[in-house]
Amino acid sequence: MKSDNSLKPSQIQFVGNIPHNHQPVPLPLKQNSEKKTAIVAGAAGFLGSHLVDRLLGGDWHVVGLDNMQTGSARNLDHLSNNENFKLIHHDIIQPIDHAASLIFNLACPASPPRYQADPVRTLKTSVIGTLNLLELAEKNKAVFVQASTSEIYGDPLQHPQREDYWGNVNPVGIRSCYDEGKRAAETLCFDFRRSHGLDVKVARIFNTYGSRMDPQDGRVVSNFIVQALQGEPITIYGDGSQTRSFCFVDDLVGGIHGLAKLKPDEAGPINLGNPDEFNMLELARMVLEQTGSNSKIVHHPLPQDDPKKRKPDISRAMALMGWSPKTNLRDGLAKTIPYFKDCLKH
Ligand code: NAD
Ligand code: UDP
Repeated sequence: MKSDNSLKPSQIQFVGNIPHNHQPVPLPLKQNSEKKTAIVAGAAGFLGSHLVDRLLGGDWHVVGLDNMQTGSARNLDHLSNNENFKLIHHDIIQPIDHAASLIFNLACPASPPRYQADPVRTLKTSVIGTLNLLELAEKNKAVFVQASTSEIYGDPLQHPQREDYWGNVNPVGIRSCYDEGKRAAETLCFDFRRSHGLDVKVARIFNTYGSRMDPQDGRVVSNFIVQALQGEPITIYGDGSQTRSFCFVDDLVGGIHGLAKLKPDEAGPINLGNPDEFNMLELARMVLEQTGSNSKIVHHPLPQDDPKKRKPDISRAMALMGWSPKTNLRDGLAKTIPYFKDCLKH
């Protein structure tokens, strides 16, 4: 894969070697005064980069924050000549100071192997990182949108999952750094809302796929497509009867963008996902069919605490925003496979 960074040096600002003294770092950035500024933390990631595009298509000057832990410069290459975009190399575990009227927090690894690789860092990103960005939002009186997750529901005992379900999460398992980190981040959002009147929005995102996913990040859609395209065995964990509900990236980004426009009395949490539910065997067969691959299916052990079912109840998103996904899994995979083919060429 290509890893060079084609953003112009003037578009990238490095905020390195910050002493761990929790002093905010003021950033003397030039700003386009005709546009309002939105900050996207996690801008170089899969979802973050698509959200940046959506905002730039509207009337926003966008400042991306990313420490490049799981993000890729390639996801932002196409913005190299866009004067309304700037990337700041910054880890949200450290405080930051910057003007903005809208802040999206998408900074956190989302793939289980990636967030489990350094669990303490994952927890710090979710808890300290979210706290830092909430403080920045409070200082700016900005709207704050948190990318939360269906992992809030853990291995759910309610199906489909509604936002008023409190979940079934193991607090000490291998997924806990992510699940509990995101739960604590939601708590922080609602405490800032109650204590400081901050206009927060919490999106509970269900499994999303599409272009700009890291082909190596270990999530099921990327694994299956890459394996199928390379003629390697498709690795199903367990017997493949566990289910997920897969949302195409364009649908999801439309939902998260829409959330930011809700009135201050609507904070969520709001499920965003595609309610069509598939088990992993069905997903594998669909990928094999769409790639025309002869790969064999092999079974590997199911990871600890792997949720058995996942399906969002999206009636709240439909009622508040008129939002529902438009792309079914078959069509979404057809749009996604060419991206992975292209990645494998580099
Ligand atoms: P991703 O790993 O592609 O992107 C995350 C981005 O955040 C990367 O660019 C990474 O470098 C950056 N990042 C991580 N830690 C950081 C830190 N401490 N400081 C600054 N930047 C940091 O993941 P994604 O799929 O794009 O997910 C984005 C967000 O959406 C995450 O918060 C994730 O929890 C949430 N989410 C995603 C899904 C999904 O299916 N994609 C589902 C539920 C929730
Ligand atoms: N999975 C799989 N094979 C893989 C990767 C994942 O069978 O190569 C399974 C995984 O065990 C889980 C589901 O696919 O049941 C979704 O996994 P993913 O890591 O994409 O996201 P999760 O919803 O578990 O966070």
